[in-house]
Amino acid sequence: MSPLKKYIAEPKIAYFSMEIGLKDEIPTYSGGLGVLAGDTVKSAADLSLPFVAVTLVSRKGYFRQSLDASGWQTEQPALWEPSEFTSKTDAKVFVDIEGRKVFIQSWAYFVESPRNGSVPVIYLDTDLPENSPEDRRLTDHLYGGDEGYRIKQEMILGIGGVRMLKKLGFKIKKYHMNEGHAAFLTLELLHEFKRNIESVWDEDKIWDIEAVKDLCVFTTHTPLEAGHDKFSYELYDKVFGSYFPKHILKQLAGEKNVNMTLLGFNLSDYVNGVAKRHGEVSQNMFPGYHINAITNGVHSYTWTCGSMKRIFDKYLPGWANEPEIFVRVGAIPDEELWGAHLEAKKGLIDYVNSISGAGMDYETLTIGFARRATAYKRADLLFSDINRLERIGAGRIQVIYSGKAHPKDNEGKHLIQKIFSSRDRLKGKVKIAFVENYNMEIALRLVSGVDIWLNTPLRPLEASGTSGMKAAHNGVMNFSVLDGWWIEGHIESFTGWSIGPAPTEVTPDADMNRIDADDLYNKLERIIIPTFYNDRKTWIRIMQNAIGKNAYYFNSHRMMRRYVTEAYIR
Ligand SMILES: *Cc1c(COP(=O)(O)O)cnc(C)c1O
Repeated sequence: MSPLKKYIAEPKIAYFSMEIGLKDEIPTYSGGLGVLAGDTVKSAADLSLPFVAVTLVSRKGYFRQSLDASGWQTEQPALWEPSEFTSKTDAKVFVDIEGRKVFIQSWAYFVESPRNGSVPVIYLDTDLPENSPEDRRLTDHLYGGDEGYRIKQEMILGIGGVRMLKKLGFKIKKYHMNEGHAAFLTLELLHEFKRNIESVWDEDKIWDIEAVKDLCVFTTHTPLEAGHDKFSYELYDKVFGSYFPKHILKQLAGEKNVNMTLLGFNLSDYVNGVAKRHGEVSQNMFPGYHINAITNGVHSYTWTCGSMKRIFDKYLPGWANEPEIFVRVGAIPDEELWGAHLEAKKGLIDYVNSISGAGMDYETLTIGFARRATAYKRADLLFSDINRLERIGAGRIQVIYSGKAHPKDNEGKHLIQKIFSSRDRLKGKVKIAFVENYNMEIALRLVSGVDIWLNTPLRPLEASGTSGMKAAHNGVMNFSVLDGWWIEGHIESFTGWSIGPAPTEVTPDADMNRIDADDLYNKLERIIIPTFYNDRKTWIRIMQNAIGKNAYYFNSHRMMRRYVTEAYIR
């Protein structure tokens, strides 16, 4: 009997994502979007939702990062073997790419919750002997290759994914597109719901757009225009041939090029951004559409470190499946909360010292910064005035960095080098370490082991951000620009600290870097450092609030309950 049998009886919500990060052994994720998808699936399993996820097998992963002595990044494939972790299904489908049949097989992984819920994740794979060598490589590299490679991958995910679910016997009641990469699935659904030609006057009317809209939910993740996938119609013609009439597609995905976000918007009854502010920013980018907001969350159990789990279990039993229980964080005695934090901090410092020789210690205020190395995240903001940083921080702070740059993002790669050169410049004054090859394991070590979590994106470009929510789950407070989720989570000096002006006061200003850096240094010097060293009681109070006010809300169980009630069932 197929292990999928018990899943296909009840109609499911099908969640499509180009990347899903469940664990490091399955390296089919690049960063926040993928980790969010993994947390989504884990919460769906915990909540016993009728859910199935679809993604690409990405056999060579995103990449493994190596850094040379100057901090220059090179990339190696992050190979994984699907048969080690998943079971091959017996279904095979194909899509027509450039007039060839490209066959797709799939692998099923089951996310099993201790609460008995279970969600299958279907990994699509073109590495089959009946495909040409080139087509076999189409599901190798996550976000690799050129535009042609990318559009083919999105065709496999969207069109191949719908066909695969059908072939496996799934009945689907909602399709949830996690970002535009999967939006071609709408075209396949239009084919499925095609009206009988005799029943309509006009041939164009055979496409039942309303029926497809009823089935689809679309989540946009970036307020950056360049972050939205677009393909030329020339490329579309070449790859898709006559699959779907171009003049109809132009009405749905844009006249100039195939805009995947627009396609998703036009064919989804429910569209949302991933934080309240991001919903508003997206609304301004796409006037005429109604854009909702469901603020992201992280999977509480995954993102809480061992020592914190122990005290949560002791004082807040049931917290992992009901994070609302964090409201009772005050039940944890201060010494035990601090003790659990110190245990995580020691683990991190030992780890960082062992790989970097940075010679960090347990007592110094430790700042963490880890995320994708790309210009708008401004990993170098802390070094804007390096002499001032030295004056404020010498002997009082130490900083741990991590993060990968996209292989084609040279500016991002230079940012890593800048961290390296700043580290050397501050040698003997402020200890700085860079942890190579950021992944989920390193993320958990960092968000739980540092004292404060720094985030300095250029507004309004951080759609949500999730690493700060992970920090909050470990009693680590955020020190961040007021953008994304932090606008909702921040209460000054109570849950953490802001950097720069309130979002309402922000006008695009060439001086934003200077203004933000100035505020960063001021708060570090006058508030954060003194509180950490001289007022431990207040410090622990803020840690409590990070848990009781931030983790309480910014978790993926709350997020999924909202998707269910606002997007899936309506
Ligand atoms: C959580 C996480 C991210 C996302 O972090 P942001 O703060 O949202 O940028 C990226 N990479 C890894 C490995 C993560 O665990």
